[in-house]
Amino acid sequence: MMLNGYTPALGELTSEGIVITDEMLEGAQQFVDKVHEIADPYDAMHKVRLEETVEMRGIHHVMFGTSDGSIDLLEECGQWHLIDYKFGHRAVSPFENLQLASYFFGECERLQLTEEQIDNCSVFFHIVQPRCFHNRPANMTWETTGKNLRHLWRAMKESALDAMTHELGARPKVGAWCRDCPGRRACPTLRTNAGANIDWINRSWPVEMPLDAAGLELKFVEAALAQLEAHATGLREQVEHGIETGGYCPDWARETGKGRGRHWTVPAAEVFALGDMAETDLRKQVEPITPTQAIEAFKKKRFDTSVIEEYSAPNPGSVKLIARTDNLAHRVFGVKS
Ligand code: SF4
Repeated sequence: MMLNGYTPALGELTSEGIVITDEMLEGAQQFVDKVHEIADPYDAMHKVRLEETVEMRGIHHVMFGTSDGSIDLLEECGQWHLIDYKFGHRAVSPFENLQLASYFFGECERLQLTEEQIDNCSVFFHIVQPRCFHNRPANMTWETTGKNLRHLWRAMKESALDAMTHELGARPKVGAWCRDCPGRRACPTLRTNAGANIDWINRSWPVEMPLDAAGLELKFVEAALAQLEAHATGLREQVEHGIETGGYCPDWARETGKGRGRHWTVPAAEVFALGDMAETDLRKQVEPITPTQAIEAFKKKRFDTSVIEEYSAPNPGSVKLIARTDNLAHRVFGVKS
């Protein structure tokens, strides 16, 4: 919208019903600035393609993708720019980024570029990631050539062919990417691997390890942790959903945590009476001030604040899963886990 000249107002709803925040506007502005930085020197804003879907039939016959921004500057300077906007916190690197590599493949297919045009093209992958607080700049660029991307396309084609040829016998490759896979809840490979990891971490370790062995072991442990995390998030979602929809799980329950601040549990009139007794005005126009503000006001007057706690309760926080330690087996055998 902003690139088309319309900046939505704070609090406005997007077409998906999401409320526009300051942070979203600032992040989008970074994307807009990046597009202008690339296109303006060539007066090429008319060449910017936003959220256009391209097919990549040469990799897989049903593969397609929608790039956030794609700028063809082949005529102007022999360059192609792909810009992707990431609003999440987890750092995404443009280096050999498969998502952007596949978009470029799709653009080459769409325009039916020759091998020579592809090989000689300077390709720029830009990731605009305003909320990445990792130790790196919010926006990163990787410059390469069409020729250098061929090995990535080859790897994608081989994987697609592998999956299609072997069908049920395909060899899914587990890794940190499983964290984003919608099928992880039911993936037998991920489950088998997670089980192997659990066995592996339960074995005994030598107390003293040489540095190189410790370093190698750490590498394995980090990879195993990433796989286990992917497995855990899939299971967590399944268990949470099951309990939320009325299912019973012997090992897990849902608990509402304590949020920030407190809320009144008695009628406003009682709160006002309490304040009047303590010569403290607890009114906020028509409503009482918050319990936290009341505690501060009481403190200033050196009144006992415990009475406020009796008149209020902690705000509920987010709901999270907690391990059950109160089931029958625990009560009978006294096991704590
Ligand atoms: S969870 Fe299974 S299917 Fe999904 S990416 Fe991981 S290995 Fe592949």
